[in-house]
Amino acid sequence: MEYGPAPESAAPAQQWIATHSGAFDLYIGGVWRKSVAGETFETFDPATGQPLAAVAQAGADDVEAAVEAARGAQAAWWELGAHGRARYLYALARQVQKHSRLFAVLEALDNGKPIRETRDIDIPLVARHFYHHAGWAQLMPTEMPDYQPVGVIGQIIPWNFPLLMLAWKIAPALAMGNTVVLKPAEYTPLTALLFAEVCAEIGLPAGVVNILTGDGSTGALLTQHAGIDKIAFTGSTEVGRLIRQATAGSGKKLSLELGGKSPFLIFDDADLDAAVEGLVDAIWFNQGQVCCAGSRLLVQENVADRVYRKVRARMETLRVGSPLDKTTDIGAIVAPVQLERITSLVQQGQAEGATLWQSANTCPSTGCFFPPTLFTDVAPSSVLAQEEIFGPVLVSMTFRTPAEAVELANNTRYGLAASVWTENIGLALDIAPKLKAGTVWVNSTNLFDAASGFGGYRESGYGREGGREGLWEYVKVKERPKTRSASIATPKPVAKEVLPAANALPSIDRTPKLYIAGKQARPDSGYSIPVLDPQGNVLGHVGEGTRKDIRNAVEAARGAGSWAKSNGHLRAQILYYLAENLAYRSTEFAAQIARMTGQNHATAMQEVDLCLERCYFYAAWADKYDGAVHQTAGRNVTLAMNEPLGVIGIACPTESPLLGLLSLVLPAIAMGNATVVLPSERYPLAATDLYQVLETSDLPGGVINIVTGKRDSLAEILAQHDEVASVWYVGTPEGGKRVEHASTGNMKRTWVQDETQCDWRDSVVGQGAEFLRQATQVKNIWIPYTDEVSW
Ligand code: NDP
Repeated sequence: MEYGPAPESAAPAQQWIATHSGAFDLYIGGVWRKSVAGETFETFDPATGQPLAAVAQAGADDVEAAVEAARGAQAAWWELGAHGRARYLYALARQVQKHSRLFAVLEALDNGKPIRETRDIDIPLVARHFYHHAGWAQLMPTEMPDYQPVGVIGQIIPWNFPLLMLAWKIAPALAMGNTVVLKPAEYTPLTALLFAEVCAEIGLPAGVVNILTGDGSTGALLTQHAGIDKIAFTGSTEVGRLIRQATAGSGKKLSLELGGKSPFLIFDDADLDAAVEGLVDAIWFNQGQVCCAGSRLLVQENVADRVYRKVRARMETLRVGSPLDKTTDIGAIVAPVQLERITSLVQQGQAEGATLWQSANTCPSTGCFFPPTLFTDVAPSSVLAQEEIFGPVLVSMTFRTPAEAVELANNTRYGLAASVWTENIGLALDIAPKLKAGTVWVNSTNLFDAASGFGGYRESGYGREGGREGLWEYVKVKERPKTRSASIATPKPVAKEVLPAANALPSIDRTPKLYIAGKQARPDSGYSIPVLDPQGNVLGHVGEGTRKDIRNAVEAARGAGSWAKSNGHLRAQILYYLAENLAYRSTEFAAQIARMTGQNHATAMQEVDLCLERCYFYAAWADKYDGAVHQTAGRNVTLAMNEPLGVIGIACPTESPLLGLLSLVLPAIAMGNATVVLPSERYPLAATDLYQVLETSDLPGGVINIVTGKRDSLAEILAQHDEVASVWYVGTPEGGKRVEHASTGNMKRTWVQDETQCDWRDSVVGQGAEFLRQATQVKNIWIPYTDEVSW
């Protein structure tokens, strides 16, 4: 039997627009202001093509005013205290709930998504996000006593979940004591403007939330503004890349939630009907305009035909139509340009030879609609399989074995999410850790909750939103007085060879090479660099590493993959053993440090002692840096697992040559990463003396690779390398900028610190949880269950 129409009235939303005379200003410092340049643009209903309202286009002067308002409000917002902020966040949650239907209708009108989704998913999740973060605001002093807000946050969000993305950005930022300037997407500004009204209604202090409508140029102005301390962005990888480049070297913190091409794996033992229902949710929810959409169906070959038959049958029942009809499954595509993009990618797919199937159901003849589409016979390297289509288009491939499934699933530059369908829990839990994705859903899909972090691996970006893990994006370690100056002494310019006396024999030369794959390797350049003492005497030479040496070192690090699979206990044992071997030679190391740096022996000895303590500290953490089981709403076991990143490139500070190096390398390897290390350029002998310690400590070859030479140019090469997952750089602002700029090739994470600001001897700044967080990425694995609990 056919469904009858069940229209939701647009009248309340239209009335709300009409009370503003169909025109909206910018919300800056708690008041509505026209844009200084007086420019506006229109926002449309994509289902009808009709204009909905005129909205202000924020320009440079408006960005200036909004940042100033946010800056002016930030100290008082932080000083309001945890409970005060919690009260406001709670009030926001309540107010969103009170206006929930208006929000739901307005969102459906402006975006084109079905009212069923905005009413039952988007808006409830928005309220939940504010409630959850009211709690984090309250708990901040006890849970994060050593942290303070980052400051003023610039937030740029996309059009696919306009209000939900706003909540994901604003709630944690405010909870942690920051103030924000948020730019909604050009296509969907209206619910953000209604939210601004809600902020005013609850009496949120002026300037805490500022909303600037505008296009990409407004976003660009925001990212470039010197008064912004952090940018939080959700959108395309392409724009994420531009933002990384624009913010490189600025010292701004950055989190990026980017695109995806998420796999949906169906094994032959899966409950196929449930899997097909899941698939409908995975790819046709929000017209497929979802960053984590399960857009690549990978199905085991022996059940593929059955699955396709079921998918086609289900597609026939999907209703494409008015977003405001409560029986609509698939609403409108957000804008004509997106529709063109989807159409063009589908045409390319057909031209490449893939087989297209669409249901007989028709789309409305006006407005932006695209029918649900299935592609079979898709080659893994084709455009369809690799490009994010961001529309209701499912592309399918088959696999034979679990290993092949994993290989196909990971055959993408992205890594946002994955779904695994099998009745065999052993298989599911074997596959989930192997998938390169920030979220893995077992026998489920598109589950979101404020208590669980969401974010990507690889080119899907970095940083997490939601849960405890999302809070770190909005805090920094409290500033502390330095225990000593970290200023860098100027080196003596001239090298004086210490020649042997005429009648003496030359000393036996000991020129350390590079350390790659557990062995000493000659530098490819064939050049050596002298190491001078503070008087300019030559203490020795080290090899000058090149691009080729970095390539070899990265290859060696990648070859050490078994280290990631080793358990924390084993890694702890090796770190303790390393401490043992270092302790045995501590006097020798101290003497070398004293010789190179000119420090007295006692100070150098302190440095070595701190290194030993740090070995113990990270050995201790190696088997204790636990994940969590998140308390997500609904019936799920949500496992937040800390996973290593892979290969981390580490450029070490000049000063504290041994302590700086070990403070960075130890947490990285304790968490299962392999490293390519660029030691102190001026005092490299502390690192080269380590070779023998490493060799005698049972550390597998390739886990630590050391390349001496010009730190900043080698760091840039590491940042350009596609197989390096993250670069930690401690050096000059200029060198940091080069690293951040070069990191955009594979959108790798970077952690850049100014060496004059780092005090390695400080036990809070020089070691701790921040190092472990930088060394890991959180994967959330969701496993739903039924709740038949009896007492
Ligand atoms: P964008 O990445 O362009 O837009 C995201 C946000 O960034 C919007 O607010 C946009 O403003 C803003 N923006 C655009 N250019 C800049 C810039 N140079 N500096 C700062 N901010 C900027 O996504 P699109 O809307 O153009 O969509 C294009 C494709 O991106 C989609 O087809 C899809 O593949 C992908 N996408 C992925 C999303 C995700 O969640 N991962 C979400 C949205 C899109 P404005 O809206 O005014 O252009």
